Amino acid sequence: MLNDTILHAERELYLTLLTLAQQQPMAYEWLKQLPTWLNDIKDKANYAHAPAYQASVARLPKLAVDNAQLDSDILKINAQLSDSERKQATALLKQLMPWRKGPFQIGKNESNPIFIDTEWHSDWKWQRVAPHLGNLKGRRVLDVGGGSGYHGWRMAGAGADTVIIIDPSCLFYHQFMAIRHFVGAADSYRTHYIPVPLEALPENSQLFDTVFSMGVLYHRQSPFEHLQQLKGQLVKGGELVLETLVIEGDANTVLVPHDRYAQMNNVYFLPSVAALIGWLEKAGFTEVRCVDVAVTSTDEQRKTEWMNYHSLADFLDSTDATKTIEGYPAPMRATIIAKK
Ligand code: SAH
Repeated sequence: MLNDTILHAERELYLTLLTLAQQQPMAYEWLKQLPTWLNDIKDKANYAHAPAYQASVARLPKLAVDNAQLDSDILKINAQLSDSERKQATALLKQLMPWRKGPFQIGKNESNPIFIDTEWHSDWKWQRVAPHLGNLKGRRVLDVGGGSGYHGWRMAGAGADTVIIIDPSCLFYHQFMAIRHFVGAADSYRTHYIPVPLEALPENSQLFDTVFSMGVLYHRQSPFEHLQQLKGQLVKGGELVLETLVIEGDANTVLVPHDRYAQMNNVYFLPSVAALIGWLEKAGFTEVRCVDVAVTSTDEQRKTEWMNYHSLADFLDSTDATKTIEGYPAPMRATIIAKK
């Protein structure tokens, strides 16, 4: 099914990269690969659910949107919403479950809006990170592993000139497109999504003033490679924002969970804050500082109507919430800011 929302988003992404290429020839390397990147995600041989997700996005009702509040904790799309549109949109958005990263609201406060209450209070992470960032106004930003795009929208809301979210998840990509459908031109098409992993990007692009990697490093088997790849996307003097799971300990403490960690089977390196700072320095970053450490609570990550599988409470030891069910320290996350 031809999908106006996705086609429009793709066109705006091409235009952004074409404009950028006039000043930064490296953007041509991105343009060369863009057709492949954008087509691969539509290939049902690789992504069995892609056609169904696309169809859900394509059938979302067109609403009259007054504006989108991208600088609010609940990302709000203030639109007229009739009863039948609410029912139709809710059913289609629920076909894109589980909704893990948000929250989002579609419709006006006073008229029974659709509230996508996501598993994560991603707004809490943004509150921990945002006060420590250099001003995003006018900057070109890359959000690596940006999930549904919640934080990417917030970056645009904080004034970034261009935001590119990358993430290889087919579901997250379509959740972004569902929100994009409603946001329409309300962000002046400053927020983009490319469904690829960081490793797929041209190395050493040096296109971004700020690069975020939040909740990704512990999923990587080679953390130093990840740090180098992040560095390669930054301009000289650019800012890295790295958020990842950490444990208590000194500069020589790193946990590699043997099997699962909080039921996740793709968790590799959990350093102490001191070790993590050491990694960034070893990778060549400067002015490395930890700006926040927070234990994840079962209020921040929980089961909701929009994510009705198991969540954090089920992954912690039922008799001791300081431990995961495997006996490891419960999730604690640090935010590090550094300069290239
Ligand atoms: N940044 C969001 C989402 C974190 S979830 C937040 O902090 O809330 C981790 C995300 O990283 C997942 O969506 C996963 O698809 C993505 N991811 C995993 N490996 C990646 C890689 N190599 N490059 C880019 N994204 C990756």
